[in-house]
Amino acid sequence: MMPEFEAHLAPYAALATTSPGRQFAELTPPTRSEFQRDRDRIIHSTAFRRLEYKTQVFVNHEGDLFRTRLTHSIEVAQIARSLTRNLRLNEDLVEAISLAHDLGHTPFGHAGQDALNACMKDYGGFEHNLQSLRVVDSLEQRYGAFDGLNLMFETREGVLKHCSLTNAQQLGDVGRRFIERKQPTLEAQLANLADEIAYNNHDIDDGLRSGLLTTDQLNEVTLYARYRHEAESQFPGISGRRAINETVRRMINALVDDLIQQSRANIRHAEIKTIEDVRNAPPLIAFSENMKKEAQELKRFLRTNLYHHYQVNRMTSKARRIVTDLFDIFISGPELLPLDYQIAGDDRTAQARKVADYIAGMTDRYAMREYRRLFAVDEI
Ligand code: MG
Repeated sequence: MMPEFEAHLAPYAALATTSPGRQFAELTPPTRSEFQRDRDRIIHSTAFRRLEYKTQVFVNHEGDLFRTRLTHSIEVAQIARSLTRNLRLNEDLVEAISLAHDLGHTPFGHAGQDALNACMKDYGGFEHNLQSLRVVDSLEQRYGAFDGLNLMFETREGVLKHCSLTNAQQLGDVGRRFIERKQPTLEAQLANLADEIAYNNHDIDDGLRSGLLTTDQLNEVTLYARYRHEAESQFPGISGRRAINETVRRMINALVDDLIQQSRANIRHAEIKTIEDVRNAPPLIAFSENMKKEAQELKRFLRTNLYHHYQVNRMTSKARRIVTDLFDIFISGPELLPLDYQIAGDDRTAQARKVADYIAGMTDRYAMREYRRLFAVDEI
């Protein structure tokens, strides 16, 4: 019998009843849906709490009001849930995926991930999506019966947004879609685009707040200019933070509305009836062509003017050095690692993976502290 939690959903939504389920069999929870349980396990995990002290764009200590990976993940979940409700998809699943999507991120954002990937090149590389899956599949240690959180297949699949073919081949069930070139659930596709909507908009907000971006610059971006104009027409004389907030919330609404309309049309045209149809169709959750173009323009703008701003570059360069030096000192001296991260024997690849797990699990400030402990001559 279909649990009533999911009775109102569209026939092509991801459902616990049609799911391959969990790796280790567990009794059905009596008071929650299966995907709610996943969401709850994610919120209670150690990796989730660490997100508070991990960089999105700005390092946590640079200012109290900038997004961190934690607030970013919450914003993604909020946007994803609104979208999901409109499309009658599984809100619990999309929330679980959104909250877990960045669990595998290294300290210092993309700079940290790129540096760790370079350090790991002879040992199988480092991909943050795959690391997020590793966190929920094995690194969290909370249950007597299994390692990891033992999440539902669709949650794990959604967390693994991208993955190289070599890695996909070693992953079994969750890797198969990359080999067979099939799509994940609509909920996974949706969480992915909600991530984009969230960071494009909050990076504008944080960029302006930090002074690295100016509103004059942003007025060159079609999407921003349109909604800034709309906000100013509705509230003549509006300025400062209030004007920015009125603009950004209009942009988020426009992106969300566009995504709902276009995705609905795509689902209808492709005559999607079941979750199998979803997997075999091209990606169905999408922006209209025009909105896609405007969103790309915004992304390009942010890449050039914010992510590669010289002040951000300075942080990036420092982050790269911290991660690389930590990796080097640990791989050449595993006896410096906490005991949990030392392996018996001399399998260098296995040891390197442990070092990567250790570094990836660090918050920004923990990595800096560890760096000082190991390299500062005036600190014991
Ligand atoms: Mg993200």
